Amino acid sequence: MLPETSHYWLRNAHIPACLLGVEPWRPQTSEGLCLTDLEIEDGQFRRLLPAGQVSWDGLDCPQVDLRKKIIFPPFIDIHTHLDKGHIWGRSPNPDGTFEGALETVYQDVARYYGAEDLYRRMAFGLQCSLAHGTAALRTHIDAFGQQGEIGFEVFTQLRRDWAERMILQGVCLVSVDYYQTPDGIKLADRMAALGGVLGGVAYQNPQLKAQLTQVLTLAQERRLDVDLHADETGDPDSRVLYQLALLAQEMNFTGKILCGHCCSLSVQTPEVVRETLTAVKAAGIQIVSLPMCNLYLQDRRSQETPVWRGVTRVHEIREYGVPLAFASDNCRDPFYAFGDHDGLEVLTQSVRIAHLDHPYDDWCASVTRTPAEMMGLPHLGRLTPGQPADFILFPARYFSELFSRPQSDRLVVRRGQPLQAALPDYSELDDLIYPQAIDNFFH
Ligand SMILES: [Zn+2]
Repeated sequence: MLPETSHYWLRNAHIPACLLGVEPWRPQTSEGLCLTDLEIEDGQFRRLLPAGQVSWDGLDCPQVDLRKKIIFPPFIDIHTHLDKGHIWGRSPNPDGTFEGALETVYQDVARYYGAEDLYRRMAFGLQCSLAHGTAALRTHIDAFGQQGEIGFEVFTQLRRDWAERMILQGVCLVSVDYYQTPDGIKLADRMAALGGVLGGVAYQNPQLKAQLTQVLTLAQERRLDVDLHADETGDPDSRVLYQLALLAQEMNFTGKILCGHCCSLSVQTPEVVRETLTAVKAAGIQIVSLPMCNLYLQDRRSQETPVWRGVTRVHEIREYGVPLAFASDNCRDPFYAFGDHDGLEVLTQSVRIAHLDHPYDDWCASVTRTPAEMMGLPHLGRLTPGQPADFILFPARYFSELFSRPQSDRLVVRRGQPLQAALPDYSELDDLIYPQAIDNFFH
């Protein structure tokens, strides 16, 4: 499909205007796609131009007519849990609830936790992510006590082993009250030494203000960014996001704060939403929504039909000018039984769940450009002359085509050449996931 030479042109690609690293031009399609010619030389984008500006004749390098096929920059997956990934076969969620997930993961850790198990499952998740076209990924890692030590040793090894293929960021995951203990302070020191992000899950409770104050204090002292799980519930009384936004302003917090989930915002009154989002905007907090996991866990009651989609108010968040990303979250574990770390699946599902289609506008930036900026990697997430020619070429020409098929035949390109990365085979993990002979496992 692509010439093997180091210098070639791709003609007539459809690129969303918001993903161009040059000033977008008109005309565009009604979906905001720009017909583009791309010159690629020595593994970099040399020029991105409106189609037809350069004559086809007289060029002495190969040209490929893409006939409107869509090109995206690589996906950026800003919220995952690689350490829990792919344990579903040995530790399925018994009833599909959040509580069932917490308890099952707790038991899985007690039975199976170890560096080799962790490394192989995390690498499996990364391989999925890479094959689907992701270039940078942030993972939360459970970090209570010794688990944090092993988890971040493995993470550091993975970051080294994968340095050529994927940019990795690590976030420690504990309940935020842990930071009020000496071990919690040690964990913050460890994250500073690792160049990580200070994370945690915050629940509505009478001590919340003191807990969040401690998180922001530790982060501020160590110049760490913060990434919290907040309001992952359908309880309208859960207002962690609001409290955090007030506190960040009060403390003049200067690092970045990213909040994941924020589900309860969508079951609160318009007045509460206005109050919260005004404070969030003023505090400079950014939000990541995890629609697939929310659809699975939220509004689940035994033998009853769910009526709530579980996602936060993504349209309103955007109206307030608050940066919003979508990400994959858990993958084949008790918090989410499915998934494959595919940025396109995340976007497709988000479009359908949250009605991001009338218009499509620049929502495709929410799995590319926006999370890249949030991760401090603004050169990724858009297609820019002078930058490495890393991109994904889909067979689809318009958004309806893009979101209707899984695009399994997409071409992932790095430095101008096809990436040789296949999805890993599930059987690679059989000895970890089915410790008994597989035939005995099912009955
Ligand atoms: Zn999460």
